[in-house]
Amino acid sequence: MLLGILKETAPGETRVALVPESLKNLLAQGIEVVVESGAGRAAGALDEAYEAAGASVTGDRPAILSEADVLPVVNALSPSDQALLKSGSVVIGFLRPLETPASLATAIALHVTLFSMELVPRISRAQSMDALSSMATVAGYKAVINAAGVLPRLFPLLMTAAGTIPPARVFVIGAGVAGLQAIATARRLGAVVEAYDVRAAAGEQVRSLGAKFLDVDLGGINTEGGGGYAAELSEEALDRGRDLIARTAARSDVIITTAQVPGRPAPRLIRSEAVRAMRPGSVLVDVAAPAGGNCELTIPGVMQTLGGVTLMAPLNLPAECPADASALYARNVLNFLGLIAKQGQLTIDLTDEVLAGACVAHKGAPVNPRVAKLLEVSQSVN
Ligand code: NAD
Repeated sequence: MLLGILKETAPGETRVALVPESLKNLLAQGIEVVVESGAGRAAGALDEAYEAAGASVTGDRPAILSEADVLPVVNALSPSDQALLKSGSVVIGFLRPLETPASLATAIALHVTLFSMELVPRISRAQSMDALSSMATVAGYKAVINAAGVLPRLFPLLMTAAGTIPPARVFVIGAGVAGLQAIATARRLGAVVEAYDVRAAAGEQVRSLGAKFLDVDLGGINTEGGGGYAAELSEEALDRGRDLIARTAARSDVIITTAQVPGRPAPRLIRSEAVRAMRPGSVLVDVAAPAGGNCELTIPGVMQTLGGVTLMAPLNLPAECPADASALYARNVLNFLGLIAKQGQLTIDLTDEVLAGACVAHKGAPVNPRVAKLLEVSQSVN
């Protein structure tokens, strides 16, 4: 079996799907590994390190695409790359099958098996493959570090001979994986942290990190959407959160907002008035920007200064920490590979719920029912 590691081509992408440390286990199974020259450079993994680990390195990307049996990637391949894939090969990565299913059509038509890391079921057995959580952890950390970098104030309480500096006040909206990491990071830097989430279960986790959980009376509605995720709320329920957010924003130096509902645009929770009420010099980092953003004023990918408030809307925070983001992602991918590469042989058993859940397409047909439906719709539109 030949496994290929490609250089990512998406603008701003610095991560790589497997790092040299990942190769030992694969090579021990007799799997051959070929790496595109420069694939890991931006993540600090040089060609020499892959070679030293036992891989071969080549500048011939088309050869890797057409010969590899398995291609772990970070982002989906372009249609022109997909066109080179061989029938029966396997691509594993953040393929965005629910956002852009039609962009995978070329690979599906070529009978490439596609596994999406976003669709790996969030069950205990698959926790070690949960790349969404790995990347959200990095994003939550980096959002706080970036905010601290532009905030014209210090985070910790400082008592000096020149007087006392009060601690920064950080408000985290959405206390899931990214939000909890943002809380932990801001607390480590000495900030006073408040957090809000619609899921009551998040309260205990927030408090265990030394932050204050802000409760909103949502009138007893169900806020849990299953699998630990939030449900999409009515406008009325969202408004109750928006009022709390506006009040809290006015006393916050930093807002980190991470609220998301799977498969839906991010809820618009921060009204423009709330941003206007923030003190000049305050910073808002909209971690939900890739899903449209939690703030009305967010322009995904654009950093703005509005009335002295810095509004950051980064599209790929994990790529700003490429070494550790790649190392974590590589471990998730390697654990997933363990389900399909046994003793060096490719075996795809779609009765395994993890494989079935993550499988976008196999043998020319969509497997995931949500993707199948979306593809039907996009075909009837075209
Ligand atoms: P996510 O990225 O979909 O959402 C981030 C947070 O936004 C969530 O906590 C959600 O409740 C919150 N949110 C959504 N709408 C909101 C609104 N209107 N107002 C305020 N907050 C809102 O979720 P995630 O971080 O990937 O995961 C959420 C939870 O899922 C985790 O905290 C955990 O409990 C669970 N989880 C379980 C597993 C597992 O069992 N393997 C893995 C990962 C996460």
